Amino acid sequence: PLRQRLLVVANRLPVSAVRRGEDAWSLEISAGGLVSALLGVKEFEARWIGWAGVNVPDEVGQKALTKALAEKRCIPVFLDEETVHQYYNGYCNNILWPLFHYLGLPQEDRLATTRSFQSQFATYKKANQMFADVVNKHYEDGDVVWCHDYHLMFLPKCLKEYNRNMKVGWFLHTPFPSSEIHRTLPSRSELLRSVLAADLVGFHTYDYARHFVSACTRILGLEGTPEGVEDQGKLTRVAAFPIGIDSERFISALKLPQVQEHIKELTERFRGRKVMLGVDRLDMIKGIPQKILAFEKFLEENPLWRDKVVLLQIAVPTRTDVPEYQKLTSQVHEIVGRINGRFGTLTAVPIHHLDRSLDFYGLCALYAVTDVALVTSLRDGMNLVSYEFVACQDSKKGVLILSEFAGAAQSLGAGAILVNPWNITEVADSIRQALTMSAEEREKRHHHNFDHVTTHTAQEWAEMFVSELNDTVVEAQLRT
Ligand code: UDP
Repeated sequence: PLRQRLLVVANRLPVSAVRRGEDAWSLEISAGGLVSALLGVKEFEARWIGWAGVNVPDEVGQKALTKALAEKRCIPVFLDEETVHQYYNGYCNNILWPLFHYLGLPQEDRLATTRSFQSQFATYKKANQMFADVVNKHYEDGDVVWCHDYHLMFLPKCLKEYNRNMKVGWFLHTPFPSSEIHRTLPSRSELLRSVLAADLVGFHTYDYARHFVSACTRILGLEGTPEGVEDQGKLTRVAAFPIGIDSERFISALKLPQVQEHIKELTERFRGRKVMLGVDRLDMIKGIPQKILAFEKFLEENPLWRDKVVLLQIAVPTRTDVPEYQKLTSQVHEIVGRINGRFGTLTAVPIHHLDRSLDFYGLCALYAVTDVALVTSLRDGMNLVSYEFVACQDSKKGVLILSEFAGAAQSLGAGAILVNPWNITEVADSIRQALTMSAEEREKRHHHNFDHVTTHTAQEWAEMFVSELNDTVVEAQLRT
């Protein structure tokens, strides 16, 4: 049977490309959540369209890369350095990312910001148009086009201008903020209107979907219905599709000899101490300083625990060329140094802070030996680390402390201890509660979450979105 073609459009292709010569490239697939989600969906034939993450100014290089990528079902969009700077570093990461996570717009010199804002927004639109051109070139009748994330909010409109019969869905992987926050964005209306050109608009949680609908009603004056947003009889369907993980991939990794070996080593290394774990990109939204200060308060108030617990914080470097991120890094280092100086002994320190990433198997082993995972995001679209931890805990049945401002709080709230990460006292108390929780209660909470994580998978998420998109288009045709 012929499978429906699915064109997945995202800023980055799921590969890292390294140039080996004038016309030679080596490619490595990066197996993130979205990739394994779509590999697991057997009923569609997925193709990826996006930027390969490298600047390729010459035609020979572009041709060779296009050919190499084709074997991985990937189609490149070539962006020059200036475009990447203005569109990706500028408008996406410096404006939309902080705004959608409630950090507001950049506040330095206001006139300069306004000017660069204008040119960054113009480049954002231009870049989205470049994605649209590539999609349009590869589009065939009947294809489903699924646009991803805040990088491509302008894309649905560009695509529909090419072909109003194209089936277009858009999914946001970050929070969508309250309309009162979105209102501050100079390009607020234009962005909303371009997203509304899609047939289906999806978010991780009902809250985000509701925020989007109120932004459309309050800022654009359109009508919100239980189904979505209506504009002169045309409905854009808006709904929540909470993403999941490929839980099987984690569960089976734990059975591999190399991972088992690693688990044994770690268990030996931390014998006699409870292991607490944080795994985050080093981003302001993750609340890492708040987490470490809460841990300090816990140590302060519970002297008997001082040599019986260790916090392992994996802080993956991200956007390291941005001054705010550099500042955050030194701030975190300073707090960690102070606490280790204060509570460390000649043989042990309370916090192991790593400025690096781990590979998949290393991460699985770490999740498995953890007693308490600490996720304190100030805002987070979903937070997959909390899901991955739960998937790896079926023998240990550790405790998850989870920020109520992570999308995951809506799905793992029943099993986790939910906290307000700004409330250091509350987080410190929850650390004590987690470390002293009875085995019976840990087991009960774990089962709740484990059931959820293993049944609401990434594959199911992708299937739901695409089938809803197909249905939405059929219903719209019936109505006209
Ligand atoms: N991750 C990784 N190596 C690391 C740390 C994290 O591969 O050393 C992965 C982790 O498995 C997870 C992702 O990075 O899938 C982080 O996703 P999350 O939704 O928690 O946060 P994001 O970074 O997308 O804001």
